[in-house]
Amino acid sequence: MYPRLVIDLKKVKNNLDRITEMVKGSGCSLMIVTKGASADMEVYKLLNESDIDYIADSRIQNLKKYEGTGKERVLLRLPMNSETDQVVKYADISLNSELKTIRNLDEAAKKQGKVHKIILMIDLGDLREGIFFKNEDEIFNAVEEILKLKNIELFGIGVNLTCYGAVIPKKDNLSILVEIARKIEKKFGIKLQMISGGNSSSIHLIGKGELPEGINNLRVGEAFLLGGETAYSQKLKGFFDDAFTLEAEIIELKEKQSVPIGETGVDAFGNKPVYEDRGIIKRAILAVGRQDADPDGLQPIDSKIDILGASSDHLILDVSKSDREYEVGDIVSFKLSYSSLLRASTSGYVAREYR
Ligand SMILES: *Cc1c(COP(=O)(O)O)cnc(C)c1O
Repeated sequence: MYPRLVIDLKKVKNNLDRITEMVKGSGCSLMIVTKGASADMEVYKLLNESDIDYIADSRIQNLKKYEGTGKERVLLRLPMNSETDQVVKYADISLNSELKTIRNLDEAAKKQGKVHKIILMIDLGDLREGIFFKNEDEIFNAVEEILKLKNIELFGIGVNLTCYGAVIPKKDNLSILVEIARKIEKKFGIKLQMISGGNSSSIHLIGKGELPEGINNLRVGEAFLLGGETAYSQKLKGFFDDAFTLEAEIIELKEKQSVPIGETGVDAFGNKPVYEDRGIIKRAILAVGRQDADPDGLQPIDSKIDILGASSDHLILDVSKSDREYEVGDIVSFKLSYSSLLRASTSGYVAREYR
């Protein structure tokens, strides 16, 4: 069955071992984030047997699949008020920034006879989730209210960076998170178990020894799955960037010119494409499209192939320069970016093959 996502479990395991050494070696606990591969169950088995501390995902449906795991399950996306019962049922910990939601989680936990742990998110300037770090009164008020709730435990605080604002974690901004934690602990006479210093974009600080003291957890998805840190897009040494690859089949192979004929308007997605005149080229059409993968995030493993464009169900390649004589029915393989992996693992049209 093609297209298919090929998952090399030995390479996944290698990446898991490397990221565990790195993050736990730096004194942090490790939360592995599984949303990038849509909670693949073979990958989950590796995680469940590993030394990681937490298993995290943005979707409650994915955490539900991990029922019976020995790891604590963490919901990363702020809970919807409409799903608080499910959140308490399938997650041990959730990331939060809204008191209304936290109160609803408390109600749900009370009904289920549980204590639900939360990480209060602080926004250090990336402008996605969290209470803005400059609004200290709002932070302290939230803590005060949370501490009144009997079925909620304030487990810690956390930050997310390099997601909306593309802000890079540094010693100075992450130090602010540690300062806020210390202020909360002093003001309320409590101990915060977790100070979670971000995602794969914080990994670069470990190598430089610049992860501020006090940060004791990282939440890592992309670096584990694809072997790269995400602050400066550097490949990580000893990791594989091809643990996940995409394979698709050639359904047409013809020599044609490279510039369309006739007046051009917009393509199937409303964009006005520009065409480079490459003369007559050997064009391969693959049975894979935007519905299956993000074409901008595909990198042909045959480096002499160029991607020319894509529509919903087709990917168009220039294979003129390749050393291989491709034929209709041949399979072409690609490395994937995060967005491509996310889409390929989500698409119901992409099969999975394990090696
Ligand atoms: C997705 C996500 C992560 C993991 O991000 P990576 O860049 O894949 O490591 C961590 N924290 C939150 C809140 C997330 O939504």
